[in-house]
Order: sequence, then structure tokens, then C-alpha cells
Amino acid sequence: MIIVMQRQATPEQVDTVVQYIRSCGLQEHLSRGAELTIIGAIGDENKLDLAHLEILPGVERATRIAKQYKIVARDTNPQGTIVNVRGLPIGGPQIQIIGGPCSVETQEQMDLAAEAVAAAGCSMMRGGAFKPRTSPYAFQGLGVTGLEYFQKAAKRHNLPIVTELMDVRMLDTFMKHDVDVIQIGARNMQNFDLLKEVGRVNKPVILKRGLSATISEWLMAAEYIAAGGNHNIIFCERGIRTFETAYRNVLDVTAIPVIKRETHLPVIVDPSHAGGKAWMVPALSQAAVAAGADGLLIEMHPNPADAWCDADQALNPGELKSLVTTLSAIAQAIGRHI
Ligand code: PEP
Ligand code: MN
Repeated sequence: MIIVMQRQATPEQVDTVVQYIRSCGLQEHLSRGAELTIIGAIGDENKLDLAHLEILPGVERATRIAKQYKIVARDTNPQGTIVNVRGLPIGGPQIQIIGGPCSVETQEQMDLAAEAVAAAGCSMMRGGAFKPRTSPYAFQGLGVTGLEYFQKAAKRHNLPIVTELMDVRMLDTFMKHDVDVIQIGARNMQNFDLLKEVGRVNKPVILKRGLSATISEWLMAAEYIAAGGNHNIIFCERGIRTFETAYRNVLDVTAIPVIKRETHLPVIVDPSHAGGKAWMVPALSQAAVAAGADGLLIEMHPNPADAWCDADQALNPGELKSLVTTLSAIAQAIGRHI
């Protein structure tokens, strides 16, 4: 940590800061310039209370140097981590495409969806049984029945399933139904109790970026999961809220290389909730793969016009299949494959 003293700080005030640094088990490094005194605190800066330092007389400001996140930081595993989902690697040369409807509706819809997902060449399937809806009067998902429909449909094609956990009280049910990947939705990215609980299980977790979350908040949310012992975390960029209203969210393509540089964990992209319209999904998916995404989470419905949720952004089976073909070519051009 670096502590910058005010210009008029007295030697006694400097000494008070030094004594505080020592009392926390760190060492001070004083740099006295003609105008300013700067104190470096050497050691584990987590032992220092930044707020306490900043209210000490004579202190102008204190700044942390070390990153707040440790386990998810790239330094922990510089070569990168591959998260294994029932034998399928996320984070290696293979790009995993996860397709499926926004929500689980009926057994027939899920059967048709699973068939289309497999036929398109996707390796995993998505579908929400518990839906975070803006309106309490909108369809909230089928709940446990939805998990049953989903498992039944996906099993036939040996597709691992990805589904959202909204409430910590449902975690046991998710484990019992052998959900392969637990999705933490954008609205729950900072539900710290939920993050702590999924940190205690060993299922892979897709951590979506919050609607207005900074990169640093997103990384700290992942650190919550990792701190509990679960290091199988997959970041998912799904668009952020900005001043722009012409589309649902702005896909932050920049976040892909940034997250990959900051962490050793894989990053996938959800182009559907970013653009909010089916016609934007191919362009955004192509950009994501070109920018280094390790996978995509794409909404597809057997008959989009009939979808109970997010009908506007769902691809149909044919559109998903042709998109995967295009993405394959992009993947190959950058030394990867689908
Ligand atoms: C979803 O993937 O079903 C979903 C609700 O996404 P998000 O949390 O990103 O809005
Ligand atoms: Mn959706």
C-alpha cells in the first residue's frame, strides 16, 4: 500500500502512520521528497485498514497496490485453467457452444430443443427452470418439474445441462437432480450468500456479469466462489447497461481479453441477452469467438414465436446450426475448434 502524506504533514503525523504500519506486522518504506512524503507499506496489505489510514491526521490518501482477488488471479495459474464439465473442457482449444431455450416450458418443447441443440453441433444445453423476471406477474419458470423435463430431454442426447440457481434453498435440489453447470444470473452476481454456497460444492459455475457490474466487482464475485473452495468458475459476459437504448444491452467484447488477462479462468459470452434480438446473435457470436471467448451461451427455441420468455432473441434450429458452421470457420482461423 502507498500512503501519500499531506504537504503540511508533521514528523509526528508521519510517525503515527509508521507506528500503525508496524503494529499490523508490515514494514514501512519512507520516501521524503522536497514537498511530499510518501510511505510504502511492505507486506500483506490485507492486514491494513485503508479507511483507518485515511482518517489519520496528515494523510492525504492511501492506495492499495496488490489485487484484492487472489485465487482467481492469473498469477495463481498462469497457463490457464480448463474447467471440466462431464468430460468436456471449457478453456482449452475447443470452444463449447451451449444452446437451448430461455426457459423450460413443456416436455415436448425440451425434447425438440435437445434434438436441435445436438443436431446443430452444440456440446451442452441451457434452459431455465427458475426464471428471474422483471415482473412478478410474468412466467417464473416451472421449478423442479422443469429440471425433470430438462434432464429427461438432455439425457437422450448426452448433453450436460446448464441452468440458473436463483435461491440458495434450491441448491440441494440442484445437486439431487445432478445439474451439470450451475448458472448464477446477472441479477445475482452480487448475491454474496448465494456465491458462498455455490463455493462449497464442486459443480462448475457460470458466473454472469451483473447488469452494471465493473470488471473488478465481477472478479471479486468470482473470488467469493473460489474462496469457498470451488475453483470451477466460468465467467459469462452477457452485455452491460449503458446510455444506449437501441438494443437490450451492450456486449462488452473488451471484457473478454481483459478477463482472460486478469484471471486464469475461462470466459464465455451470451450474445442473446446482450443484443436482445435474434438477428444480432450471429454477429455478436462471431465477434466473441474472434475475441477469444471459450464458449457461447445461445438461446434457441424449436419455435421462437411460441417461446414463453425472450421470444425476440431466440434463434430457430436452422439458424443455430448455420451459426455453428460459421463459428467453426472462425475458430479454425484462430487455431481453435468447436
Ligand atoms: C438467462 O440466461 O436465462 C438469463 C436470465 O440471463 P441473465 O442473468 O444474463 O439476464
Ligand atoms: Mn432469456
